[in-house]
Amino acid sequence: MAAPASIIPTEPIGSIPRPVDLIDRVAKADSEDPNLAPFYEVAIRDTIERFEATGSPVVTDGEQWKYHNFATYCVYGLPNTAPDGFTIPFLDGHTRRMSRLTRGPFRYRRYADGYLDIAMRYAHAPVKQAVISPSCLSLLYPSERIPDYPREQFIQDLLNEHETEIRRCLNKGAHKVQVDFTEGRLAVKIDPSGHLLNSFIDLNNLALSRFSPEERRRIGVHTCPGNDFDSTHSADVDYAELLPSLFELKAGNFYIALAAEPDRRHVLKVIRKYRKADQRIFVGVTAPTDPRVETPEEVRDRVLEASEYIPIGQLGTTDDCGFSPFSDDTSTSRDTAFAKIRARVLGTTLAAKRIGGTS
Ligand SMILES: [Zn+2]
Repeated sequence: MAAPASIIPTEPIGSIPRPVDLIDRVAKADSEDPNLAPFYEVAIRDTIERFEATGSPVVTDGEQWKYHNFATYCVYGLPNTAPDGFTIPFLDGHTRRMSRLTRGPFRYRRYADGYLDIAMRYAHAPVKQAVISPSCLSLLYPSERIPDYPREQFIQDLLNEHETEIRRCLNKGAHKVQVDFTEGRLAVKIDPSGHLLNSFIDLNNLALSRFSPEERRRIGVHTCPGNDFDSTHSADVDYAELLPSLFELKAGNFYIALAAEPDRRHVLKVIRKYRKADQRIFVGVTAPTDPRVETPEEVRDRVLEASEYIPIGQLGTTDDCGFSPFSDDTSTSRDTAFAKIRARVLGTTLAAKRIGGTS
């Protein structure tokens, strides 16, 4: 093992752009068509090989088989949903739409540990698995009440399904289970009073409270301003409105988009003030929304900057976000994604050596 790199752990967020051939095939067929299975498998194997070639000590399956996106993979195809649910507005004017629950009971159609099974068949490095947050899926329930299925019952069913998904991933040996919470920052934009954000934090803590402190050391939360077609949904929201509440979450790890922030030191000061002693902070050092590939030296300098605010024992690095959280997003190439990941790995090692005094 390269000792210096282990001083500062580095992990990806999750998604890698799908091969263009796979995107074309999915567009022409039903994405659940069993004839597509070999193509998903080829994409996963290639993704893991290329991930490991970057030297990344932790890899993912690139979310190649998550149906359509990071948020609704677990409910895609449910018969009790309709397509006209919550709309996510992006700053460039385009939108993405979630589905809407039409009747109870609410159950996942699939759990993310199914993806982990396949990834672990191919991987030599530890594999991380991302799952969607209860707060995001809570948006499936419509504003009007569903007859015979009150919201309170939905929330209980949702928490049970989410807990089941995380436990299955932990039990199968996921290096970490990352809860994607991109709607946290968006919540501040939708409701500047903070009530929506607080309700999201409370809901996610109900889920996290079901796990032991040891289990929570393998559970993390990802926050970002969104990433789709190189646009964001909430980059205009000051992190200072989000982070104090975020660190109230009972998770052991936080994956915080930082590289693309216009004032990183402002964000780092907020992190320094509100982080807790048992939380590891993985700061974003590469920006998937920026087509330019960072150099390892740039990454090194970002890590050193962060180390002025976060103790080394609590510092880690990550990418700001997945490289294509929505499966048909071709704004970033696979080559660019892996080049950025390589820069993250090399730059983190350079910083660790500098901090460790070996160069
Ligand atoms: Zn993200």
